[in-house]
Amino acid sequence: MSIDPPTGEFNLERAEFVKEAHLISELPPDSGAEIAFAGRSNAGKSSTINAFCNRRKLARTSRTPGRTQQFVVFEFSPGRRFIDLPGFGYAKVSKSKRQHWDHEIPTYLESRRSLIGLVLVVDARHPLKEQEQEFLSWCGAAELPTLLLLNKCDKLNQRETEQSLRLIRPHIDNFSDFITVQMFSATTRTGLNKALSTIADWYGEEK
Ligand code: GDP
Repeated sequence: MSIDPPTGEFNLERAEFVKEAHLISELPPDSGAEIAFAGRSNAGKSSTINAFCNRRKLARTSRTPGRTQQFVVFEFSPGRRFIDLPGFGYAKVSKSKRQHWDHEIPTYLESRRSLIGLVLVVDARHPLKEQEQEFLSWCGAAELPTLLLLNKCDKLNQRETEQSLRLIRPHIDNFSDFITVQMFSATTRTGLNKALSTIADWYGEEK
């Protein structure tokens, strides 16, 4: 009896950069299944993508806030994509750019049929900012499965960790069917397996 080889469908290490896009219309065709990554600039979104894919430089991390101002598309198996959304929340961005993304991102979240989930990366050391709350309410309204990663938990002690989780609760109670929240560290990889299990579930795979 022969045993089928593993399909490798959920092998994130195979992720490759596909393209950058300024407009939704420039994204790959809206079929297959994609997960979007969102976060305030400097929250650790690029580091999180790299940790997920076990790669050091797939997504460009930067100490310069606001460098990535595109949709960045990665594919890890045919039709399965990660979309790195432009970071938000930094001051030095032109009004026209801000207006462009204030329109493009909610439209993407509402209209993209292949979007199966969203990973929102926030800095666990700070209360949710207004735009992060707004993002969560868009996801809740769209009933989009959302993984809220409280990143940089390596910087928190036990008491601060509990406080951070307590402060988040009121923001997610209304959408608790769709939102999974967990402590995470892209640097130390705390919580990585748990996070990967959540997104594997979205793809109907086992981690
Ligand atoms: P992005 O702008 O959201 O893509 O953020 P980056 O991934 O570029 O990270 C911003 C800064 O935070 C970098 O200096 C990272 O090394 C740092 N960083 C990211 N994740 C973590 C983490 O889990 N713990 C700590 N201590 N630093 C982190």
